[in-house]
Amino acid sequence: MTLVDSHCHLDDEKFDADRDAAIERARAAGVARMMAIGTGDGPPDLETALRLARRHDFIYATIGVHPHDAAKATPETFDTLAHLAKDPKVLAIGEIGLDYHYDFSPRDVQRSVFSQQLALAATAGKPIVIHTREAWADTLAVLREHGLPHGGIMHCFTGGPKEAGDALDVGFHLSFGGILTFPKADDIRQAAAETPEDRLLIETDSPYLAPIPYRGKRNEPAFLAETARRLAEVRQTSVENIAAITTQNFNRLFRLS
Ligand SMILES: [Zn+2]
Ligand SMILES: [Zn+2]
Repeated sequence: MTLVDSHCHLDDEKFDADRDAAIERARAAGVARMMAIGTGDGPPDLETALRLARRHDFIYATIGVHPHDAAKATPETFDTLAHLAKDPKVLAIGEIGLDYHYDFSPRDVQRSVFSQQLALAATAGKPIVIHTREAWADTLAVLREHGLPHGGIMHCFTGGPKEAGDALDVGFHLSFGGILTFPKADDIRQAAAETPEDRLLIETDSPYLAPIPYRGKRNEPAFLAETARRLAEVRQTSVENIAAITTQNFNRLFRLS
């Protein structure tokens, strides 16, 4: 059984002490591929994930400006992103979107930086990875305006069946993380049960949001199997089947063999 972690922050300082060991544990736990998210601490450094992807053939990278860091973006940022998007190890532009929970950047700046990156992804021919928190209506409005020419992922999907339907209609894949295993997540599990098989992905979002039984600890890609197991229960199938379909979906979306 092999798994793909569609979203992890391997560059995070919480991995500084044991990054190589954590990557090894992931491989030993069957995580064959990982998509390292390259938002880091924001511009000007846009290569935090790409540096890791260059060192390991099974690690792929995203590039992008997280909504938290939108206020740090300059015209040069977008030039650099357009240049980096040509790198074959860069699979997607992300995570991009809107976060009205923290409001670390002003909302109008978040919307503008989000829109500019959607345009950039369309030009570069790349899928997108969306982060949205307490901003569902605005996120969807911006996405509907731009369309989804090269596909994309709703990362750490935490909506219910209604939001899942909205995102699936736009053309998104839904990626489920550790929250799926939490006792109060019935709405998310309902959405996960109803998602078409060819739109399902799984992720850790490590070092954040560790699944049960690791909840509250630092998350790492090796824990992905816990989420896969829970998703298998929710969909009344085998974990091997979840592993196979989520791997296939990831490879198809990013044109990997
Ligand atoms: Zn996120
Ligand atoms: Zn993330």
